[in-house]
Amino acid sequence: MKIQQLGSSLDSGCATQYLTTFLINDYVAIDAGCLGLLTPVSKQQSIEHVFLSHSHLDHVASLPLFLDNIYEQESQPPAVYAHEDVWRTLKTDLFNDRLWPDLLRIGAKGNRFLEEHLLVSELPIALSGLRITPVTVNHVIPTLGFLVEDDQSAVIIASDTGPTERLWELAGLQPFRQKLQAVFLECSFSADQAWLANESKHLHSSIFAAEIGKLSAIPRFITVAVHLKGSLREQIERELTALDLADLQMGGADRTWEF
Ligand SMILES: [Zn+2]
Ligand SMILES: [Zn+2]
Repeated sequence: MKIQQLGSSLDSGCATQYLTTFLINDYVAIDAGCLGLLTPVSKQQSIEHVFLSHSHLDHVASLPLFLDNIYEQESQPPAVYAHEDVWRTLKTDLFNDRLWPDLLRIGAKGNRFLEEHLLVSELPIALSGLRITPVTVNHVIPTLGFLVEDDQSAVIIASDTGPTERLWELAGLQPFRQKLQAVFLECSFSADQAWLANESKHLHSSIFAAEIGKLSAIPRFITVAVHLKGSLREQIERELTALDLADLQMGGADRTWEF
């Protein structure tokens, strides 16, 4: 399984992530924060499935651009998967003809811009070679983390969350547990911003180790810290490095992992 974290900075050498998108095997996207900025556009055209964790802008901002960029008459539209609350928000607040044309209404009259699919927590979706299980995590609006697996390997993309439980419980079940290779876990805030992390239901560097420690019964996976606030990135990295966690890596623009 190949996982790529897409870059979202105009400086191609900059690791800072302002927006969130992960690509899996070049044809599945988790979140669309920067998906619509991916170049060349042929890489966007290769995306067949888009899973949305929640409706916050850093996770959906470029979804309208992506759908516009890849639209072609007579071709199969991408499948977009989201929780019913996310669909409600997208239809009310984004695809409303004011912020962006209502692609669902326009598409209903001819070739569709997207296929709408519903995500329900703990109901897996099987795609060619992949199984993706959404699991409710602990954020200020309904949000799904994802357990992603193929025959050989598995990863967790936890999305935006404060301290959570069910995602780790399910990850501890076989056969997922024995295949687990990597956990992409957010650390949005530094220790001195703990109050803001608590208000906004994110993790901060003081509780990051305790959170990943909930998987301590599972051996030999790497932890990748992601979703570090741009203005706090260096401080958060310093604080996480000082934790001296085994197998901790920092995520970053255009990093790729193969499992
Ligand atoms: Zn969020
Ligand atoms: Zn976010």
